[in-house]
Parts: sequence; C-alpha cells; structure tokens
Amino acid sequence: MSVVTRFAPSPTGDLHLGHVYAAKVAHDLARDAGGRFLLRHEDIDSGRVKPEFYRRIEEDLEWLGLRWDGKILLQSERREAYKDALKTLKTMGLAYPCFCTRKDIQAALSAPHDSDAAIYPGTCRSLSIAETNDRITTGEAYAWRFHAEKAAQIHGDLSFRDLRFGKIRVDTSVNGDAVLSRKDIGVAYHLAVVVDDQFQEITHVTRGEDLLGATHIHRQLQAILGLREPLYLHHALVRDEHGKRLAKRDAARSIRILREQGYSPDEVLAMSQVS
Ligand code: GLU
Repeated sequence: MSVVTRFAPSPTGDLHLGHVYAAKVAHDLARDAGGRFLLRHEDIDSGRVKPEFYRRIEEDLEWLGLRWDGKILLQSERREAYKDALKTLKTMGLAYPCFCTRKDIQAALSAPHDSDAAIYPGTCRSLSIAETNDRITTGEAYAWRFHAEKAAQIHGDLSFRDLRFGKIRVDTSVNGDAVLSRKDIGVAYHLAVVVDDQFQEITHVTRGEDLLGATHIHRQLQAILGLREPLYLHHALVRDEHGKRLAKRDAARSIRILREQGYSPDEVLAMSQVS
C-alpha cells in the first residue's frame, strides 16, 4: 500500500510551531515510506478565513522544505460533495434538523460542567415531522445533526487503529449528536474531513491528540457512508513553557516572526518539538 498523508490547516492565521510539528509528522511519514504528502486548506468557515493566509501558509511550508505533492485541495470548492454525503445521511434517517441556539443548549444541560463537554442533549431529536416542517416553513434557521445512536444500530461495533494508542473502540457518547451541517455555512468539520480524506485517498490520518475524540464520529461516518478506513496517528501537541497548547493567538511563535528574527528552517524545525 502506498502511504498518503495530509496536512490540513485552516487559513485563519499564520502557522505556529504546533502546525509545523503536525506538518512534519505527516510529511515524514509519507516521505519515509516513499509515499505522497498532500495539502488541504480547511476553509469552509468563510467568516474566519482571511485570503492572505492561503499563500502565507504555503510559503512557510516551502521555506521549511515541507513540500507537498500535487494540487492543493480547497474545502470551499467541495460543497457539492459534502451536500451529497449529507443527503445520503438524511435519506437513511441519520440526520435531523436542529433549531437550538447555543443558549438553548446550555439551558437544557442540567449541570454547569456539562456545558464544557458541549454534548448536545438531543432536544430536537424527538421533534415531530409536522413541527419540524412548520419551523422550517417559518424561516427558522437550523443545523443538521447526526443521529449517533441510530447510526450505531446500523453499523454495529466499530473501532479504529492508532499508531500511538493502539486499537480504540468507537464510543458514540464522545461526540453525541454532533453537527454535520452548520446553520451559517451549510457544512461542518466532521463531515467535510471524512469526505475529503476519502477523496484524497488518505491512508494515514495524522493530527494532534486534541482531535482523538473526533475520530469516534469520523469512523461512524466512514462506516455509514462506505468510505475507506484510514490508519490514525494522533500525535502529542507542542506546548508552551506553561504546558498550554499553542494557538494562533501565540503570535510570538508564528513562523513568520521566527523567520523575521533570522532563524533558519532547520532551527525552526528543531524548535517544533513535543516533550
Ligand atoms: N484543520 C484542522 C486543524 O487545523 C485539522 C483537521 C484534521 O487534521 O483532521 O487542526
């Protein structure tokens, strides 16, 4: 099997050392195996995307010597594919309209600490078809949510393999009925990522361990939509001196700034380490 990996940043800011590490893991895994390393801009969230960052991200990767193969995939050009996947889920009765606002969801969760986990309490799952249709007709905005339990009844026991954590059984309660299609942009991360990993023929999905939970629903979606199962590698995260994961707001660690300060690509690559 030829190895295909991808780096999938969102063009909402400059790359920082955490991104460099993620890109390097994907790049090296592919290169060591004589495989392909692909680039995908995860740019579905049009409100947060800033046009200058596409090129800035590409330039930083080129400067670091992390060259990708082939054409860059833009999620903003893949709306039809996401719509088709959503349609399949709707036809199977595995997606339902949800009218809840963030505030409704918080109010429905009994204990305040629940809101941190943000597991949807299922409020709209049991709406009647008549009520749903009424609310749609009156122009109320809605998202589409995944009916995780009903899906589990169809696909049965599932697991995924992670090169670091081993075999993990899929647990539908990790994500609950997550959003497949947002009110504002008509798609959401979980659906877009599985559809695109299939399209780009990704064999090894490498990404930070903060996304390990997301893989539970990704495996469910892959099983239901008949998509190939990739191998996973959820790597450790680059952290600051206080042990906090880096974020885009940590401008001081952006590759741009390090470049301007005169660091070489090798020095920057060496700085993007996990402990
Ligand atoms: N776009 C995501 C991020 O920036 C990565 C998604 C993925 O690798 O599945 O963290």
